[in-house]
Amino acid sequence: MTTQNRDDRAEWLQGSSVRCEVVTQGDQAPWRLVLLGAPGVGKGTQADLLHQRLGACHLSTGDVFRAAASRRECELSPAMRAATEYMRRGALVPDSTVWEMVRERSGCLRCNGGFILDGFPRTLAQAESLKQLMENEGLTLTAVVNYDLPTSEIVARLSGRRTCEKCRTVFHVTERPPKVEGYCDRCGGGLFQREDDRPESIQVRLEAYDRSTAPLIDFYGSLGLLTSVDASGAPDEICARTLNGLKSRHAI
Ligand code: AMP
Repeated sequence: MTTQNRDDRAEWLQGSSVRCEVVTQGDQAPWRLVLLGAPGVGKGTQADLLHQRLGACHLSTGDVFRAAASRRECELSPAMRAATEYMRRGALVPDSTVWEMVRERSGCLRCNGGFILDGFPRTLAQAESLKQLMENEGLTLTAVVNYDLPTSEIVARLSGRRTCEKCRTVFHVTERPPKVEGYCDRCGGGLFQREDDRPESIQVRLEAYDRSTAPLIDFYGSLGLLTSVDASGAPDEICARTLNGLKSRHAI
């Protein structure tokens, strides 16, 4: 039986007080993937496509912080309020806040539907915490996919990116334009430019990536989990490359 995973993500996006409707039964071992790569390389788009192909849920820490940022100030804990400020500037949220947020949602990591982590881990400390939690739970990562793209292309992708305010589908003004300008093809929601996709924040995010996240390539390389994928070209081509790279690690 294949996994009927609707990528409901309610539990991940809203916290453990909510139950998601993912159906988790399947006779195959679940996919448990981490996607690495600089901001703008297309991890979110690939996570959505991989979810459609592999069934595992797309879990983005950035989506959780963005969902928090759209709530009223008084509903947020002081740590979450501070996190949304870091995000607006393009800086990384402190490890302790990120880990607290992920730990509260660790049910999603244990879920038999599997997961595709997008934007987490982003520092060595986060990677160590994830490794420890998974070891304690008797879980293993299937693979870590690292998406490669030259910096000039990354900047062009980030500055043209537009996101649906309702369903979070990502478009690009020239590379992946919506059928009707300003509106989502999938649900008709309005498209907006993320605050952290403005030029001054892009610079901060790329520096944070080089300093804090790039070392994870060696970390997962030495654990034998790394698969590198060229992230140039159309989303479907990149997805096909990814699936090809993953073939040897799991039955597809
Ligand atoms: P993303 O959508 O993954 O680009 O994340 C948007 C923003 O959320 C980042 O620029 C950070 O401010 C914050 N963020 C998301 N995930 C993490 C993480 N694992 N560690 C630190 N900050 C994060």
